[in-house]
Amino acid sequence: MASCGSSQEADFASGENAADKISGATGDALAAAGLASAEAIGLTAEEAWNAAVENAAAASDEASDYNPDRDLSDRIEIPLGDSMMYANKSEMNQFCKFNEEELPADTYVYQDYFFYHSLTDEMREYITGCSYPAEGAREISLDGLAYVSVLHMDFDGYVHRGELICNKAIAKDLVEIFYELFQNRYPIQRMILIDEYGGNDEYSMEDNNTTCFNYRMTVDTGSLSQHALGRAVDLNPLYNPYMYKGSVEPVGSEPYTDRTLNEPYLIKDDGIVVKLFKEHGFEWGGDWKTMKDYQHFQKK
Ligand SMILES: [Zn+2]
Repeated sequence: MASCGSSQEADFASGENAADKISGATGDALAAAGLASAEAIGLTAEEAWNAAVENAAAASDEASDYNPDRDLSDRIEIPLGDSMMYANKSEMNQFCKFNEEELPADTYVYQDYFFYHSLTDEMREYITGCSYPAEGAREISLDGLAYVSVLHMDFDGYVHRGELICNKAIAKDLVEIFYELFQNRYPIQRMILIDEYGGNDEYSMEDNNTTCFNYRMTVDTGSLSQHALGRAVDLNPLYNPYMYKGSVEPVGSEPYTDRTLNEPYLIKDDGIVVKLFKEHGFEWGGDWKTMKDYQHFQKK
């Protein structure tokens, strides 16, 4: 049976902080799952991460200078603006949990590689008991959620497939928004399901992972978050912190409470991210008065 937070992909994707998590949170379920899985393939989490970095570096060589020694059997062309981007499909997909050869019948394809569909049986099983409550949820059903697949460019300019689970009501908005961000080469470091972190929002944020659906309460009021309805997106959260009454989340994001920094990952009120989400009817947490949630966009 599929089990969230314990896949090999999870170790690779979250390996950046995994060593700290494992050493700092003995007995933590996610760390235990990650360590057990890394050991199962003969690697520590740190070694797994280093292997992933080497893969990415190799991918970049291929993309930049067409290294003749590389296996290009699965190379694909991706339209980007007026030009073509090259990527190896396996490397593009390496962090994703779900890679489907045949898409479900209700798939909506917006552009090549930008699509969404209802959750498959495998996906339902995977998220239940993790980002979706095992006992079900009165406010949102599994039928009300969509699986969204897009491409994104990481901070080094390499293409990855990203995956999100969201409310069906905003799935079309999201493929359109993330398509525009990709076409504009907007850097998004990581975009994997929060279940890869055992549904732990803090770990996902520390890893700078962009996410949407997670059935949880808000930090400040304890009421149901818009993430619990799949109606909110957190983008590049490590660089775009949540600030409330002197507290800052996630750990490590403190330097980025200075919103005058000239970093390309900071979401600015006059930038393309805010513009696109607002055009699609979302509100931005950076506009809020009693708190600031710079990573957060929601559409109720
Ligand atoms: Zn949020």
